[in-house]
Amino acid sequence: MSNQQKERQRLDALKEKLNNYAYSYYVLDQSLITDAEYDELYQELLMIEAKYPEWVTLDSPSQRVGDQLLEGFQKVKHAQTMYSLSNAFNEADIHAFIKKVEEVVGSQHSFICECKIDGLAIALTYEDGLFVRGATRGNGQTGEDITQNLRTIHSLPLRLRKPISGEFRGEAYMPKEVFLKLNEQRDEAGESPLANPRNAAAGALRQKDPAKAAKRQLNIFMYNCSSQSDIEATSQGELLEEMEAVGLRTNSFRKECHNFNEVWEFIQTVGQKRHQLPYEIDGVVIKVNAFEYQEKLGHTIKAPRWAIAYKFPAEVAQTTLLNVDWTVGRTGVVTPTAIMEAVQLAGTTVQRASLHNVDLIEKLDLHIGDQVVIHKAGDIIPEILEVDLTKRKRDDRPVAIPTECPQCHEELVKIKDEVALRCVNPNCPAQRLAQITHFVSRLAMNIDGLGEKIVEQLLDHHLIENPADLYYLKQEDLLKLDKIKEKSANNLIQAINESKDRGLDRLLFALGIRHVGAKAARLIAEEFGTIETVMIAEAEQVGQIEGIGEIISQSLVHYFQQESSLKLIDRLKKIGVKTDFQTTVIGTQQTNEFKGKTIVLTGSMNAYTRNEAKQILQNLGANVTGSVSKKTDILIAGTEAGSKLIKARDLGVTIIDESTFIEKLVESGINDAK
Ligand code: NAD
Repeated sequence: MSNQQKERQRLDALKEKLNNYAYSYYVLDQSLITDAEYDELYQELLMIEAKYPEWVTLDSPSQRVGDQLLEGFQKVKHAQTMYSLSNAFNEADIHAFIKKVEEVVGSQHSFICECKIDGLAIALTYEDGLFVRGATRGNGQTGEDITQNLRTIHSLPLRLRKPISGEFRGEAYMPKEVFLKLNEQRDEAGESPLANPRNAAAGALRQKDPAKAAKRQLNIFMYNCSSQSDIEATSQGELLEEMEAVGLRTNSFRKECHNFNEVWEFIQTVGQKRHQLPYEIDGVVIKVNAFEYQEKLGHTIKAPRWAIAYKFPAEVAQTTLLNVDWTVGRTGVVTPTAIMEAVQLAGTTVQRASLHNVDLIEKLDLHIGDQVVIHKAGDIIPEILEVDLTKRKRDDRPVAIPTECPQCHEELVKIKDEVALRCVNPNCPAQRLAQITHFVSRLAMNIDGLGEKIVEQLLDHHLIENPADLYYLKQEDLLKLDKIKEKSANNLIQAINESKDRGLDRLLFALGIRHVGAKAARLIAEEFGTIETVMIAEAEQVGQIEGIGEIISQSLVHYFQQESSLKLIDRLKKIGVKTDFQTTVIGTQQTNEFKGKTIVLTGSMNAYTRNEAKQILQNLGANVTGSVSKKTDILIAGTEAGSKLIKARDLGVTIIDESTFIEKLVESGINDAK
């Protein structure tokens, strides 16, 4: 076979493979290979096509934006084509891009560099300021109508601040924190984990039921509009400012650059900060700023010539699998964790990786001693991507799947339709440890000084079996524990006693009822007021509370149908644990951490709305302002904190998270701080 024939064969094979991967990625929201692997194959295809332009066919991935559309959604024709972006992988690619730009427009121009959000392109149509339709990018010409799902995104304005019309483009994404929580919940529920925030966001936007989409807590950043839109701007920089002015959320982590050095420096800065950002990014988009020049440069069939996406190298590492640890969670799910030789990955030393469930171990065909390739899911959680089979040694043995609980040795079960292994022994000590540790944790009953180590000893000494037993402990019981002397025993007893007053919402959360998080517990407590009414509530009644769905309401009702739950509540009540709901009493405090300080709130909190937190701080004598400056003393950063967090870091402002905030409120004497 001649070389040319070989290249032809390779091209056909690449086309078929890439089209398959793209179908799975765009239509089914599943990645069969990593983006970096896809990009590598795609670059190979481009190289062959550049050499033999006559071989380019319409079905080549180089000629298409996206893929075919999913059935079941109305089709929406975009006001103007939604393009993809060409990619750059190194300095040379960016130099080449700048050179090409300058050949057409000269050197008197600037670029706007933006973060490349790893989400899903969306187009939002507004008529006279009103949001009328939202669509996916689809194949670039036509997308899918996902208006109802997009309406669940809180930052998407249903009405703009000006009565303008137009089609605005941007990215819908899943915040890292939401992605990680969702996967924790999926592990716990015996479901397979979502591969990455992008797939998770794409899946959410294609839900048939908007209530399910709402649960995925997506967010958006807007960065473009069709040329027919009523926005007055002559450049990308102005466009972003104008969009912000009408209420569309843009990403302020961007920069105007004038030459290669400035562009490259910004890419380095983003590279250093990307892991601290609350959303995942996979690169930096460099756009010619002036629209006049953008028009001169035009488009290829697939992407604009005035922009390029620099993609960060994939952050993966190779190491050796030493062992697999099996731990039992609160609800009895037994989760495997890979223990590996320590290795550096995306800025931290990694030794453990989540394996989620048995199916994944089997899919990876993991053997102890394997060389494994790892990455960080959602930029945070280390995960094994694949095994380097060429390095497998003869005596490497497959990972043994336990048949009995590593703690109580009862037989494990695999429930139908679940991927999780479960210990169903209600007396399993590992489950008890996890339940009680949750009960005493900060956002639950917040028992100061009582951590997992002490709970473990209390269980080992048979001093407690369930959370209610904590309240019946005596000083002499605690003195039996390691390193506990009279003073610390007294402090513990006092902390346990103080926790009796937390109120119904905290108690409901502390009980660890499946699916009932801190916020749901608060909503339920607010609605019903006392534990007695919660206990007799019907699922339907609970489900009517705004923000509470069917899964939560059924789980709550199921919990209170259990004999053991009724006994537990009874003992808690008998010993004086408060079981009614008290609205937040926010007293003015004489002295406290926040008095006289200038404080900025950013991101969202689990326990408070932004206004509640603001009110509390103001009552404590703090000055709450909207933006971070040198005068800011403290930034309180909830989840999904963005540019304010970065600015605060740059200015050296003290930053505290939600749990520290709550801890400080408790220290300030606000006992019912959530
Ligand atoms: P892309 O993701 O490389 O870049 C274009 C997209 O970037 C735009 O459509 C837009 O959605 C997004 N974007 C994010 N921030 C932006 C900003 N600030 N300004 C402008 N655009 C911004 O291109 P694509 O066409 O969406 O997808 C192609 C890529 O998808 C491939 O390079 C590959 O990495 C991945 N892919 C992977 C697989 C797989 O199987 N793993 C399959 C197909 C595609």
